[in-house]
Amino acid sequence: MTTEATTRTYRGSGGSKPAPRDPNSKPSKFRGPAYILSEKVGDNEKKVTPFMVRVGTKSTPVVTLDHGEFDFAVLLHARFKANGSWSNYVVCTKKSDPKGCPVCSVFTEKPSQWFLCGTLVDRSVWVIPDGKNKGKEISNQRRLLLVTASQVDQMELIGGKIGGWRGAVFDVGRSTDQKSPRIGSNWFYSAKMTEEDMLELFEPAAAGYGLPVDQYIEPFNYEEILKPKSFEEMTKIAAAIKAEGAQELAPASSVSNEADVPF
Ligand SMILES: [Zn+2]
Repeated sequence: MTTEATTRTYRGSGGSKPAPRDPNSKPSKFRGPAYILSEKVGDNEKKVTPFMVRVGTKSTPVVTLDHGEFDFAVLLHARFKANGSWSNYVVCTKKSDPKGCPVCSVFTEKPSQWFLCGTLVDRSVWVIPDGKNKGKEISNQRRLLLVTASQVDQMELIGGKIGGWRGAVFDVGRSTDQKSPRIGSNWFYSAKMTEEDMLELFEPAAAGYGLPVDQYIEPFNYEEILKPKSFEEMTKIAAAIKAEGAQELAPASSVSNEADVPF
């Protein structure tokens, strides 16, 4: 017995009804799980988002969480386009793996970048634009601070002057220059928060994130979230990136076109 194809044609760009979704295909929240940084929170993998300030922003309030100085550096393939997004990051293994880094061979035009790492709480407020939590205000989210080599001296000077980063409150501004640093070009220090202040202020955000507040106000576990992948995994990632033809890397100004949800 044959089944008659009853494909009805509709007007408009939608055309005919798409085939039903394969029930065996996995729904994916993050379309490129290989290209995101994440941390384990209970049984979940939570996306770790690097801190970025839009071009021309006058003031974004942040609180840095590191104890003492920043002391962890990473080589990253940062912000390349894949899965329709620029928010892609893969730790480069060219220095850490004797076999080298397969992803480097995909991005021959732009090598991986060295960053000094820190953790901060972004105190700016973001309103959820749609979905079931539409209108809900999100604030006090933890972000990974990625300091480029050219900004390290300036940041270390600031860190030294204020006697360490723990609980330091800043207003971060970014100049209108499209090529200015993504983490902001001006860091205005205003005060230090006590442990008690932070425990109280960041309690609701910690609860929303799923961590006890005393853990939420600790810096990220850099060894864990920036752990280099195996050569085999990196080979697969390189092949996948190559297959997508995603060989561009984000121009300096792309942050202003950022369409990703900021957490
Ligand atoms: Zn690499």
